[in-house]
Amino acid sequence: MSAEEPGDYDLFVIGAGSGGVRAARIAAAHGATVAVAEEHKVGGTCVIRGCVPKKLLVYGAHFAEDLEDAAMFGWDVPEKRFDWPVLRDNVLAEVGRLEGLYEQTLGNHDVEIFHERAVLTGPDSIQLASGRTVTAGKILIATGARPFMPEVEGIEHAISSNEVFHLEKMPMRIVIAGGGYIANEFAGIFHQFGAHVVVVNRGDALLRGYDEQMRDRLLQISMTKGIEFRFNSTFDRIEKKADGALRLAMSGCDDIEADALLFATGRIPNVEGLGLDLAGVKLGAKGEIKVDANSRTNVSSIFAVGDVTDRIQLTPVAIREGHAFADSQFGDHAWHVDYDNVPNAVFSHPPIAAVGMTESEAKNKLGQVRTYTSDFRPMKNVLAGRNERSLYKLVVDAATDVVVGIHMIGPDAPEILQAAAIAVKAGLKKPDFDNTIALHPTMSEELVLMR
Ligand code: NDP
Repeated sequence: MSAEEPGDYDLFVIGAGSGGVRAARIAAAHGATVAVAEEHKVGGTCVIRGCVPKKLLVYGAHFAEDLEDAAMFGWDVPEKRFDWPVLRDNVLAEVGRLEGLYEQTLGNHDVEIFHERAVLTGPDSIQLASGRTVTAGKILIATGARPFMPEVEGIEHAISSNEVFHLEKMPMRIVIAGGGYIANEFAGIFHQFGAHVVVVNRGDALLRGYDEQMRDRLLQISMTKGIEFRFNSTFDRIEKKADGALRLAMSGCDDIEADALLFATGRIPNVEGLGLDLAGVKLGAKGEIKVDANSRTNVSSIFAVGDVTDRIQLTPVAIREGHAFADSQFGDHAWHVDYDNVPNAVFSHPPIAAVGMTESEAKNKLGQVRTYTSDFRPMKNVLAGRNERSLYKLVVDAATDVVVGIHMIGPDAPEILQAAAIAVKAGLKKPDFDNTIALHPTMSEELVLMR
């Protein structure tokens, strides 16, 4: 197959999200002829209907508390009023701008973009929705994942994180199903916008995988703010009433009436109708594309990166997988993604951020661990009269003094943790933290003052 023949590429990428775009751009920079097919918008979940618009809503939501707190700092703020369509439209415009930039980046690297669906027809052939068939030396599947919507009668009346950015009206009563990232982030967002928020979780724990003390602190702060929780509860039926309100018939708690119901119950890999069976690509138990450390599937010419492989469903991980794939297959040095100590954050109100092992993971894995905690009221909260405490925790391997985990909840925790994660990744020890002089007055100084 030659790159000179029209329709033939060194690399064909299906899906122009974070992983696909990075792989396409890097492979092209290495000299490969590359095409990308995208049936929705260039940018993928993170840019179009995930991290980016969500973070902008988080910023927008934070003004509610900032405007309240301003009074104690001497500012006379007239009565505040929130206008959802203004924020929504500004966020969507920014998303549109970013989409254009992503397209531009691909164009600048001479990556051909097909704005249509592409499916595999064999190990090196792809059929586009227009009917055209193209061939490629290597194919990368980067189709991401989509919200999982459980089978509940009336589920068509519920929305997912795909629709939440486009709501015509601000729902003044919203029920959020799930207890993970998206549920806790949007609970904070809608609460700050003035909605009455009820979070319904099938189990009794929020944010599985995060340190227990951080999860407990978030629950306690969220409840104090007025967010309601229903644990061990499930949905029997969702009905839309004549006035447009939703009536939710529940098991485990009383029935609920709401203006909107958001399901945030995990995300499932986008593999349906991709022709994976025709190409002979194998899937794992959760429907994910199975890949090796090189992101190669069981078919040697077909690779996959990002959420469709369900390794760690985070944008920076997908980007790194795409980059490693492109360097390894089209550049002159091969490398693998290192999945140890990936920092992560929940942009709840306040946010949680973490890197490395939780206390219980460290105890299971290492046996003897020491923990150091700082439970403090940030200076700004004290003056504002806001009774909200932050909690930082270091988990240390007792045998080596190495800091194996940092867990934080409090204002700007994700901003602070990114830098601290370097120390954990580098294997620094508790005395290295102790030897670092504090930067005063900050919240982050607590990281070097815990004794
Ligand atoms: P999560 O995996 O974080 O949480 C899913 C929640 O839904 C859990 O509470 C889970 O309960 C519950 N659940 C799962 N299945 C069902 C079901 N059938 N019925 C009822 N409840 C169910 O998923 P999200 O949807 O919040 O987010 C998806 C992914 O997107 C995340 O895993 C994360 O990787 C990524 N993301 C990352 C963000 C960030 O980095 N800040 C922000 C948003 C998303 P249980 O605990 O019992 O399993």
